[in-house]
Amino acid sequence: MEKITPVFQNYDWGSKTKLQNLFSEAPKNKKIAEAWFGTHKRGDNISKIYGKDLPYLFKVLAVEKCLSLQIHPNKKTAKLGFASENRRSVPLESAERVFKDPNSKPEMAVALTDFLVVVGVKSEHSKKRFEEILKNKDSKKSKYTSKEYLEKKTREIQKRVKNGTSDSLSDKAFLFARSDYPDDPTALLLLEMNVEMLKPGQSVYLPDGILHAYIRGECLEIMENSDNVFRAGLTNKYINPKLVLDNGLFKPLPSYKPNTVAKSKNWTDYIPRGAGFGIMVGNGNFADEYLCQYHSGPKVLIALDGKFAVNDKNVKKGDAYFIDSKEQILINGSGKFAIAHI
Ligand SMILES: [Zn+2]
Repeated sequence: MEKITPVFQNYDWGSKTKLQNLFSEAPKNKKIAEAWFGTHKRGDNISKIYGKDLPYLFKVLAVEKCLSLQIHPNKKTAKLGFASENRRSVPLESAERVFKDPNSKPEMAVALTDFLVVVGVKSEHSKKRFEEILKNKDSKKSKYTSKEYLEKKTREIQKRVKNGTSDSLSDKAFLFARSDYPDDPTALLLLEMNVEMLKPGQSVYLPDGILHAYIRGECLEIMENSDNVFRAGLTNKYINPKLVLDNGLFKPLPSYKPNTVAKSKNWTDYIPRGAGFGIMVGNGNFADEYLCQYHSGPKVLIALDGKFAVNDKNVKKGDAYFIDSKEQILINGSGKFAIAHI
């Protein structure tokens, strides 16, 4: 196993304290949103050790402002889109470039704190509202994209939250979005969606087409090594109404949880079926315990709390290690950690 240093991404929706409290290397006085572990071209701390590409990208996120409302393409759409933009010579770094690579980007989040997420639509009728708002977002031609409507709806919701007559997390998410993006009518889209407050240890799995946004909190996140995002709103970046409407899944799903969750008294293993990755979270006392024996392939371990030993190496909060396929993972001591695996 070899020690690795996270690659930090400093985005506007990040935090000046959260990831800094976990990782001593995180820059102070800067909004740090993500700590990355992988071989992505925007943050590679593993290919020098591993010698090739890691099939997943593992992150820790600190969200203090809404992330964009988005979906990810399926493999076929990504492949075609990437080839088409290459043919048209759309520069990779330009704002209009949508397909950064030919890959799909399923992702899974596991909450580290209370974590407010918006995931999937409430009903099939939601598509109409999405169409209306996304197509008229800038022209303000529709009633739903007018300033008056947005303000009226905000007053209505503020009132029921204040009176204690709102028990809806959608209202809560909507008000966060309104304060984060003051004139953006796409905040109204959150009222069409399922909003969940994940408790620490709860998770969501987001395969292609599922509309989602992270609103507040901290989480672990794992995804296929891709950067392909179609944005529907809550961002200053380029949005893609047509791609969202054509590729989004506009029907309610019974569950957004990973298909398999294996558990023991001191660990939980989250494995979405068909995704090609998973995260095991350990928390408690370990005495000579071998973990992840059934997962071959390269692993990344992040120590989240406590002091313990991994294969006789002393590990403390904020340390991260790359562990090669051939190595076992033997834990001794008391702590909390996460292991990304395939
Ligand atoms: Zn996403």
